[in-house]
Amino acid sequence: MDLDIDGVRIARDRADLALRPGERLLAGGTFLYSEPVPAGVTALVDLLGLGWEPWVLPGSAGVVAGPEVAGPGAGRPEVAGPASTGLEVAATCTIATLRDRAAAAAGQYPGLRLVAPCVSAFQLSFKVAHTATVGGNVCLALPAGPMTALLATLDATAEIWTPDGGTRAEPVADLITGPGSTTLAGGEVLRALRVPRAGLEARTASRKLGLTALGRSAVLVTGAAPATVDTARIVVTASVPRPLVMHVPAGDHGALDDALDRVTDWYDDPHGAPDWRAAMTRRLTHEVLEELS
Ligand SMILES: Cc1cc2nc3c(=O)[nH]c(=O)nc-3n(C[C@H](O)[C@H](O)[C@H](O)COP(=O)(O)OP(=O)(O)OC[C@H]3O[C@@H](n4cnc5c(N)ncnc54)[C@H](O)[C@@H]3O)c2cc1C
Repeated sequence: MDLDIDGVRIARDRADLALRPGERLLAGGTFLYSEPVPAGVTALVDLLGLGWEPWVLPGSAGVVAGPEVAGPGAGRPEVAGPASTGLEVAATCTIATLRDRAAAAAGQYPGLRLVAPCVSAFQLSFKVAHTATVGGNVCLALPAGPMTALLATLDATAEIWTPDGGTRAEPVADLITGPGSTTLAGGEVLRALRVPRAGLEARTASRKLGLTALGRSAVLVTGAAPATVDTARIVVTASVPRPLVMHVPAGDHGALDDALDRVTDWYDDPHGAPDWRAAMTRRLTHEVLEELS
């Protein structure tokens, strides 16, 4: 964005999120500032002023100091312990904060081991990783959105603030409807992402492929096998326009093939041809199923 706008409002409380004509929400700005001013946008409303706690494990038995983190809530003590209701990640949590907090808690919650490969799928610089937000990535709804992949795999739910002062919840996997398209209505704000306890306790596996070693993902396959269920939840992103979620019985490669046979809209962009993406997705999903079985 060339910043040819009339101004930026810093949101301090929920009432400040009532958007006026021409206003658009701003999180880290790593995408918004990289594009021309979107048509009709004359001002931005900065979500970071709300100071949302980036990472909360409720029902905790204790409080321990986590690694140094950046972004909203930085410097506050990290809550750790047996999460009874799961993990809440604020939409404004930066990618670096998510990565660092998850690394500190992954010994206790194996599902969080999936955070590192998903963050790596971004190929972000230090500066962008400390600025881009989890919610910004989900709301952007790019097919290769690794935070969408992560959260959809751990069966996370999005908490959405509606303009009338209400709240609605929706599975992250359903929030994305296509490239750059979500179910978010005008004036709705993604407040938080909630990972259920089953997701935190799941075993996970992932595979990523791109045309170049450091390039944008062409295929990202992420999977989770909850401890109490003999079925793997396998999510495909980057090679399809919106997250593809498949529930496959452990070891049932035939069922996985059947599910993939029904996919007809393989994504087509400069990061990979559809037929190649289809073939590579099949190979990588079988590897993930094998690892989780
Ligand atoms: C080097 C680099 C590599 C990148 N790689 C990838 C990649 O691999 N995959 C990928 O998907 N993206 C990638 N991006 C794009 C983008 O920067 C990231 O998706 C980032 O996470 C967006 O977050 P942000 O906080 O900067 O969003 P912003 O740029 O602030 O906002 C993005 C959009 O989301 C909306 N928005 C933000 N937060 C909310 C909210 N809480 N509620 C409602 N709407 C909201 C904004 O209005 C805007 O339309 C990359 C960017 C860079 C610079």
